[in-house]
Amino acid sequence: MTHDLLVARAQGRFLATRMLASVGAALAISLAMGAVANASSGLVGRLAQVPAAAPLARALGVAQPTITPAVVTRELRWVGRDIDGDGAADFANPTGKAPRTFDAYGSGAFGASRDGGVRHHEGVDYAAEAGQPVTAPMSGYVTKIGYAYAGDSDLQFVEITNPALGYEARVFYIDASVEVGDAVALGAPIGKAHTLQHKYPGGMTDHVHLEVAETGKRLDATELIVARLVEVPETTAD
Ligand SMILES: [Zn+2]
Repeated sequence: MTHDLLVARAQGRFLATRMLASVGAALAISLAMGAVANASSGLVGRLAQVPAAAPLARALGVAQPTITPAVVTRELRWVGRDIDGDGAADFANPTGKAPRTFDAYGSGAFGASRDGGVRHHEGVDYAAEAGQPVTAPMSGYVTKIGYAYAGDSDLQFVEITNPALGYEARVFYIDASVEVGDAVALGAPIGKAHTLQHKYPGGMTDHVHLEVAETGKRLDATELIVARLVEVPETTAD
């Protein structure tokens, strides 16, 4: 290879580098011009919101919008399982409150011991305020309204059957506002919570007792109605 050729090659590389640099400069200029044209909502407006691009926006002398993070609060939501796979929940919390934990009368959890272990709790007790609305934990037909305890007409239960799902739900200790034969939608009012303080004085948490059964087999409702913390954008009242 001759000396001249080497020099020519070196110059060629140099030129190529220079050209690339000019392309870069032209790009920067066109970015800057675009920035002026679209200062508020255009490219730089968007660039300024991207942390990595913020120095560029500063260098171009564009005022950067103040990014105020949206105020997000967390709420506990009760989310029902989707049994039939149609994308919608098939169950709902009948009181909107958490299951009763331990109190003077024991635990409100499914399977909790009763009568010294002779039997087990066959439902889940959802805490309630006496008189509060109670809603359908499942859609279906009201197939029965009965008494929780023989001879005590104060404490009723409402049975809802959903033949399509193959599930039955019984909601105890409510003053029913529905009648046998009514169709009820998931979450629709079915009555009001009745106080338990007369039946169980001295430390019972008022609640509704929910029994859910699939073709006769009782299930733990807390596996069908699950608590989830969801982020909710705060709405400002104005
Ligand atoms: Zn119970």
